[in-house]
Amino acid sequence: MKKTMISLMLLGSIATTLTISCSRDEDNKSLLATASNSENSLVLSNSEVLCSYISKPYVDWSWSYSAILKSELETPEDTEFMKNELKKNAALWKLNPPKLGFVYDPEKPSSTYNATSYTTGKIYYGYAIYEDAKSKSPDNIVNAMILAHEYGHQLQFKYNLPSVKESTYRSSELEADGFAGYYLRKPEGFNKKEFSEIAAAYNFAAEIGDYAEKDRNHHGTPPQRKTAVRLGFLLGEFSLSVNEFDSQFYYYYSSVLEGDDPSVQPRSSRFRVNPEIDQKIQAHMGELKKIASGEMADSEFRNLD
Ligand SMILES: [Zn+2]
Repeated sequence: MKKTMISLMLLGSIATTLTISCSRDEDNKSLLATASNSENSLVLSNSEVLCSYISKPYVDWSWSYSAILKSELETPEDTEFMKNELKKNAALWKLNPPKLGFVYDPEKPSSTYNATSYTTGKIYYGYAIYEDAKSKSPDNIVNAMILAHEYGHQLQFKYNLPSVKESTYRSSELEADGFAGYYLRKPEGFNKKEFSEIAAAYNFAAEIGDYAEKDRNHHGTPPQRKTAVRLGFLLGEFSLSVNEFDSQFYYYYSSVLEGDDPSVQPRSSRFRVNPEIDQKIQAHMGELKKIASGEMADSEFRNLD
């Protein structure tokens, strides 16, 4: 009896949503309610709310017109997993988590194969990419990595990073992969001590790499993305601030990719080589160069310690 009533109530609320064509606004309200619990909450501007109200269920220009913004994934476990992952990412850097929304598209489900980080302090994560990534490993590490990558962009927005700017998005994207590799290793992050345990994650990063090196949207080639995850993972042995991570990442990444080209060296005037970190990374430099050049076989890469 109780069950029937709940079902009817649910049906009622779906009908209401469909009739007023304003699920975005409803979702915004619930997201605002969630966000208001955190000090780092983002209050949507009037124009954002107004726009969503008058334009049917429309998320924003990053998503298709039929996409709908939701505050939850399909199951409470999935939602909880992602919220908890985001909380751990933020806590690792002693920050409050940004707002997290999920995007669902009943008409074109594959259009939500994407995740977006916004300069306004929020991350929207597509249903399709979540489901596909979840199917790739029992511990859901691929979603943990994608979210850590998107969170890496939040760190970049907040700290005006990366310190190395290029004419494409590559330096931002590779550093976000590095932040993800760092997070996967940290005990208070995803806590994977063995590199072999994060295979599903770096394989995914490599798969979505590209060779459009002149395109503004270039994210790095598959070998470069693998190198970035590996370098981040190696740096995960140390405790760094956000700015220290950026300097260390670029100091070593630049020597892997660009040799001694001064235009891609970290700009921070405060940068100092840390002898302990230097010893560790230099010991892996040959290996990093081999990954970046694409010469390292998958089997060798998988078995790195
Ligand atoms: Zn990215």
